[in-house]
Amino acid sequence: MGKKVVVIGCGLVGMSYVYSLVNQKTNVSELVLVDLDKERVMGEVMDLSHCLFFAFSRIDIRAGDYSDCGDADLVVITAGVKQKIGDTRMDLIEANSVIFKTIISSVVQSGFKGIFLVATNPVDVMTYLTWKYSSFDCNRVIGSGTSLDTARLRFLIGDRLKISPKNIHAYVMGEHGDSEFISWSGASIGTENVHEFLSDDELNNISNEVVNAAYSIINRKGSTSYGIGMCLVDITRAILGDYNSIITVSSYDLENDVYIGRPAIINKNGVREVIPITLTKEENDKFLKSVEIIKSAILKVK
Ligand code: NAD
Repeated sequence: MGKKVVVIGCGLVGMSYVYSLVNQKTNVSELVLVDLDKERVMGEVMDLSHCLFFAFSRIDIRAGDYSDCGDADLVVITAGVKQKIGDTRMDLIEANSVIFKTIISSVVQSGFKGIFLVATNPVDVMTYLTWKYSSFDCNRVIGSGTSLDTARLRFLIGDRLKISPKNIHAYVMGEHGDSEFISWSGASIGTENVHEFLSDDELNNISNEVVNAAYSIINRKGSTSYGIGMCLVDITRAILGDYNSIITVSSYDLENDVYIGRPAIINKNGVREVIPITLTKEENDKFLKSVEIIKSAILKVK
């Protein structure tokens, strides 16, 4: 049976997600767009409807409101303010936590029983707040986490080595932000460890490029949207298609009481399980540093 998705926040990220979704084969049959700017959303719906002639399958796309979440399978949240040049993702926390209180309570009031997928930054904190404000089971609240950073990493390695990014098994973990890190010890190209192919200097350069990718794009075009749009579709397909895909989403870490980016198995129940990864001492210290940063940001809004 076709699935229903409600997108809350139809700016650049929300619409990049919707446009990617319409362009891919999925089992979504109903797509509802919600935004404060109702006129712009009407325009988006009209424009998108004209794409449907070319789409893989029939999708009913319309503008709506929170009552549409009641029978939705997935609510994707991209509403809120974004980084301006010079801002870190954490600079958005105050404005976006206020918006989220209203959004999450309105979604819950609708009787929503599906899965939350959050992209608004700082995404680890906003996902934690979504979990707290909704009182949902933690497995049913997912943040895009470091999925975009992992896609960037695999692209960069693949581009250097002329190998398909699909055959690169490497993960960006931790905060989706300045303290994120790559677990190089477990990274492989096909079956061989990445150190067989790239020197420490090359790995450091790639690491810096990944961590600074958003700043490099924002300095040039003001915001990032296509990459996260595709990541959100990938997570959507894993959930609604019950794929059991391994994706570095932001999931709940019971030991540290934070949401944080780690590879996890994603299916129709949301996060099925987090994959235990053996980290070196240095990598584990980086993970704990990310935990502390997210934790103190959560305390600030609490
Ligand atoms: P944008 O300004 O283009 O769009 C934001 C939209 O949210 C606007 O249409 C606005 O009207 C809407 N909005 C604001 N408050 C709302 C509310 N209370 N209810 C409904 N809609 C509301 O911004 P954008 O470029 O789409 O970015 C959105 C968010 O996504 C930002 O926080 C940005 O930092 C984040 N982002 C995350 C990632 C990631 O990897 N997780 C990547 C890129 C951007």
